Amino acid sequence: MTNPSLLILAGDGIGQEVMAEVKKVIGWYGDKRDIAFDVSEDLVGGAAYDAHGTPLHDDTMARAQEVDAVLLGAVGGPKYDDLDFSVKPERGLLRLRKEMDLYANLRPAQCFDALADFSSLKKDVVAGLDIMIVRELTSGIYFGEPRGIIEEGNERVGINTQRYSESEIERVARSAFELAKRRGNKVCSMEKANVMESGILWREVVQRVHDAEYPDVELGHMYADAGAMQLCRWPKQFDVIVTDNLFGDLLSDAAAMLTGSLGMLPSASLGAPMANGRPKALYEPVHGSAPDIAGQGKANPIACILSFAMALRYSFDMGEEADRLENAVETVLADGKRTADLLGEEGVQPVSTAGMGDAIVEALNASL
Ligand code: NAD
Repeated sequence: MTNPSLLILAGDGIGQEVMAEVKKVIGWYGDKRDIAFDVSEDLVGGAAYDAHGTPLHDDTMARAQEVDAVLLGAVGGPKYDDLDFSVKPERGLLRLRKEMDLYANLRPAQCFDALADFSSLKKDVVAGLDIMIVRELTSGIYFGEPRGIIEEGNERVGINTQRYSESEIERVARSAFELAKRRGNKVCSMEKANVMESGILWREVVQRVHDAEYPDVELGHMYADAGAMQLCRWPKQFDVIVTDNLFGDLLSDAAAMLTGSLGMLPSASLGAPMANGRPKALYEPVHGSAPDIAGQGKANPIACILSFAMALRYSFDMGEEADRLENAVETVLADGKRTADLLGEEGVQPVSTAGMGDAIVEALNASL
């Protein structure tokens, strides 16, 4: 059997630093669990622009289409702010998402007990929280036509169009139901069927996919505005939330912040299954390249390490190993280890990026 393949695109700024810690973890799996990955590395974003004059070389794009999973650090930085729009670092990431047709964006909101005080909500509301928002990523109002700013009478009118086909709703609904089967077996679909035709169709299609293919998964529907309130009131009522591009953008940011720091948030973007049955997949932390702390050893590598845990679970079907890695993170936090972004308690000395990576590897060793 061939090893699972992984393309690492560390990118810019702290992307390089946090990815170095993920590589330690990948090395640990090879050494201690006999789980070897075929790892290749390449450039993306500003680093690719510096080398090739483009934020994503065609060869890198082709490689991304072949591998089982892509793991990305972060792109961007002030050095590239004045570049033409077409070659800005972010264009490299957008090209990956578009050409791999990654239509399901997975954003977990998970609250580690040791960090429950970081939330703006009460501790008992967030402690132990573990929900997953599945956002449709390639259609909806950000892409629908017609769009633009037009002259109408003596004023201008801004237009965007919310548009969803049945097949676009079906495929993201399937992603959500598949995920739910591996988690709490519960999906809540959110739209605005009370005021939007696209919402009526969304609700109808999600229900149809459920009844035909996933009758054993519990399904509920909620208007997205009510969903936003419920997320703040009692988020633990949810397991998987599936929603469109626009509502997902807002709800996933709000849900993520229930749990504290940007340095803790992983994500995955999944597309259609490949010939080997694995979905096209890109895993990345939610944060950017953090130029304000880049090169100082202050970045929290946990978001990127948890993104690799998601790859273990969703691309490689290694749920137990993903649990092991997440538990290692939990242990290290429970031991009081904190990077600078997680400091709150007085007298706690921060650990460096590498220090946090080493502590997680230590906790992995202790798990054997
Ligand atoms: P950012 O996420 O890079 O940083 C926001 C704040 O959070 C900063 O104060 C930063 O120090 C802190 N932070 C972020 N990640 C952290 C971590 N792992 N550990 C500790 N602190 C962390 O967002 P920004 O400052 O708005 O953008 C900086 C650059 O990153 C820009 O060029 C932007 O375009 C790019 N960006 C890229 C991505 C991506 O690659 N997916 C996402 C967002 C922003």
